[in-house]
Amino acid sequence: MSAQVLSGVEIAAEIKAEVAVKVGRLTEACGAPGLTVILLGSDPASEVYVRNKVRSCVELGIRSTLLTPPGSTTEAELLGMIDGLNRDTAVDGILVQLPLPKHIDTRRVLEAVTPEKDVDGFHPVNVGRLQIGQPALAPCTPAGILEILKRRGIPIAGADCVMVGRSDIVGKPASTMLLNEGATVSVCHKGTRDLAGYTRRAEILVVAVGVPGLITAEMVRPGAVLIDVGINRLDTVEQVKRFFPGDVARVAAFEKRGYVLMGDFDSRAYQVSSAYTPVPGGVGALTIAMLMQNTVKAAAARRGMAL
Ligand code: NDP
Repeated sequence: MSAQVLSGVEIAAEIKAEVAVKVGRLTEACGAPGLTVILLGSDPASEVYVRNKVRSCVELGIRSTLLTPPGSTTEAELLGMIDGLNRDTAVDGILVQLPLPKHIDTRRVLEAVTPEKDVDGFHPVNVGRLQIGQPALAPCTPAGILEILKRRGIPIAGADCVMVGRSDIVGKPASTMLLNEGATVSVCHKGTRDLAGYTRRAEILVVAVGVPGLITAEMVRPGAVLIDVGINRLDTVEQVKRFFPGDVARVAAFEKRGYVLMGDFDSRAYQVSSAYTPVPGGVGALTIAMLMQNTVKAAAARRGMAL
């Protein structure tokens, strides 16, 4: 039987439709929820991400404000700006687009956002709340992973889960969320001896590393569910042919665009699984939907409304 494709695009559409209904309720009761995004400087990739976030806000009826201070803005000025937004009752969510320029201490900035408006879920208070299973604004990518599993009926409680990657934005929170759902979770990283020994046991294998094709078919338990978080750019036709042997369509896509995206799994690993998230169109497609959901959650909590 062929593996099921877990489409992040479809799930994002489901979530956005639900969020739009909640935005409608909030708007009727006490005005549209508001998200403020701070984009400091002019990083081209960040500009694209921010544009997409603002577009989604417009689609769903969320008020969005984009602040674009120059790259020369000092840390003190940025902290002052965040302080103003923390106090502004019209602002429900604050998002500081990363990466920040080198002269700014990212940790300090993220900690300056009041936890109640921390729609990225990066503030230590939200990290702590998540850890002890209290209601929290959870980081968007791990929250998206959980949505995929739950909405597609993949049992988490009791499952053997392996998380490869232990970053603060993906690996650690995703492993916490899986543990909170009752999975047995192993977390692997660069220092893990015998990575394949772990991955081969996994019923749910989540990989957030950033190394194309790191997880091969031999490293996957037949029938496992694979969640591929990695987003890697293949910039040469040799790479494309190595990772996708005989895939004429992929080579044509490379020739058209000059690059091809792939995840951390080798494409042959997907075929051993029962279900997998593609790259692109998998986990990455959900991130903005989860941000919208967090904004509505923050707005409802601040206004004392149950949605
Ligand atoms: P980081 O670089 O912060 O973390 C990578 C993790 O992978 C680290 O824990 C590192 O271990 C581990 N690692 C690196 N090499 C190996 C290896 N050979 N074997 C085992 N573990 C290894 O990355 P992020 O978590 O930020 O992102 C990971 C990937 O996910 C990237 O491709 C990124 O683009 C993508 N991403 C996708 C998102 C989406 O929306 N789909 C959102 C965020 C990220 P150690 O800690 O020991 O160094």
